[in-house]
Amino acid sequence: MLKDTRFIFVTGGVVSSLGKGIASASIGSLLESKGYTVTVIKLDPYFNVDPGTMSPFQHGEVFVTEDGTETDLDLGHYERFINHKCTKENNFTAGKIYYSVLRKERKGEYLGKTVQVIPHITDEIKRKIIKGSKGYDIAIVEIGGTVGDIESQPFIEAIRQLGLELKNYQTSFIHLTLVPFLKNAGELKTKPTQHSVKEYRSLGVQPDILICRSDIKLPQESKEKIALFCSMPSNAVISLPDLETIYEVPLALDEEGIDKIITDKLQLEKNKPNLSAWKKVVKRKIKPSKLVNVAFVGKYVDLKDAYFSLTEALDHAGINNDTKVNINFVSSDELNSKNYSSKLKKSDAILVPGGFGGRGIEGMILAAKYAREKKVPYFGICLGLQIAIIEIARNLCGLKDANSTEFKPRTKHKVISLITEWKNEDGSIEKRDKNSDKGGTMRLGAQKAKLKINSLAHKLYKKTNIFERHRHRYEVNPEYVSELEKKGLLISARSEIHNLVEIIGMKDHPWYLGCQFHPEFTSKPKTGHPLFNDFIKTAVKLKR
Ligand code: GLN
Repeated sequence: MLKDTRFIFVTGGVVSSLGKGIASASIGSLLESKGYTVTVIKLDPYFNVDPGTMSPFQHGEVFVTEDGTETDLDLGHYERFINHKCTKENNFTAGKIYYSVLRKERKGEYLGKTVQVIPHITDEIKRKIIKGSKGYDIAIVEIGGTVGDIESQPFIEAIRQLGLELKNYQTSFIHLTLVPFLKNAGELKTKPTQHSVKEYRSLGVQPDILICRSDIKLPQESKEKIALFCSMPSNAVISLPDLETIYEVPLALDEEGIDKIITDKLQLEKNKPNLSAWKKVVKRKIKPSKLVNVAFVGKYVDLKDAYFSLTEALDHAGINNDTKVNINFVSSDELNSKNYSSKLKKSDAILVPGGFGGRGIEGMILAAKYAREKKVPYFGICLGLQIAIIEIARNLCGLKDANSTEFKPRTKHKVISLITEWKNEDGSIEKRDKNSDKGGTMRLGAQKAKLKINSLAHKLYKKTNIFERHRHRYEVNPEYVSELEKKGLLISARSEIHNLVEIIGMKDHPWYLGCQFHPEFTSKPKTGHPLFNDFIKTAVKLKR
């Protein structure tokens, strides 16, 4: 363990969505491979306290950490690239910072002083950064948004202050920008990068490293021009062109020599990063020998970010099975009893992801029915498990109005419902749930489940106790379980607390599995996840 924790501050400029999260995670992975312990902290300048209640259209996926914090999807990148598990210390929004300052103000902790952005908000930001970095050699701190945004100013000011307060060898500033290629001029344009650095310097920060995102590799002369205008050596201008896979980023950054610059600035060991595992991942990802088609039946089909961890987990399973996983996004809204067979018939496997709200539910039920009847591998995740239960209840048990109380609160057969509803005969929802805050009322984070010996899940996990992450309110209603079991439903896992249904399977089906948790949050590119790996493996084997 290093005596003084080192801090790498990563900001962005020109435009958002340049892949700061992936760059931060990749730098973390390079340093981890040199033998250091690394954490990554994401600071989001928006005012929501956490992204838990934000629409996927606004925010993409909500990533859930082991300790049950609802966080930005960048934390998913951190966990996929680095061996460290994020907690509530790894993601702060401006909302959370202001909230804690205001709470302190109400308690009189500021002793009658005027509470201001500087120093009170900036102090709170610094305190949270220092706290989150405790126990690590290196903390990478990523600031959301772009330099120059009004909201991000207190964050930039806080890291500027840290740069002064900590020892010079403890901090390094990395700035990520875009170098666009203008087709009609036929050249790469460095001006937006120059302006972004100028803006950053006007806030008091001189970056040590620039990572320039572009379609193509930056030629030496562009690097030199940028270096001159931005007052830095040209070897600190790193080119990061678009790559075939995000898992190539650690390799690309290493090739550009980023390790040497960071190592010199932070006075780290000069040993080279060990990237052999990433090389293997990239090789398998780029040249798979098999192909499989998975129908992904959800409601946000045009929104790649909404299911980021899930599509990555499928990809990891592909990498670990030497297979290209072709994901066909099928909008569940568009499936109906007339078209569902034809829309699904080219799929080698069907997956129904998690989700909230009633839109598109009937289409998902048709997809689950198709998979069960045609013996196509079916993977239902969270909502996807609930859909499977509704489908079996309706079509095998003859409970025509079986539903989840999330979609139809007064339905007769509440096969999926809130725990608090199980004992209510009149169909009412307990007051606590109806009036509760939308934030923080869910079953969240890693919980222990016990697997049934010899079930498919048990064979795949190769152990009896698992910890997987949850994010949902509704559960399988135990009153219907024995009726469902008579029709072939298998209960393969139950939770330690409350004995809730955690994994289901189906008799006489080659691969049918629903889980109430989100296994995608723990899938890693280097190993995959046992459930996803076998889902893809089976889909390849049974390919139609
Ligand atoms: N909407 C369902 C529930 O709250 C499922 C949630 C999910 O898929 N994450 O239980």
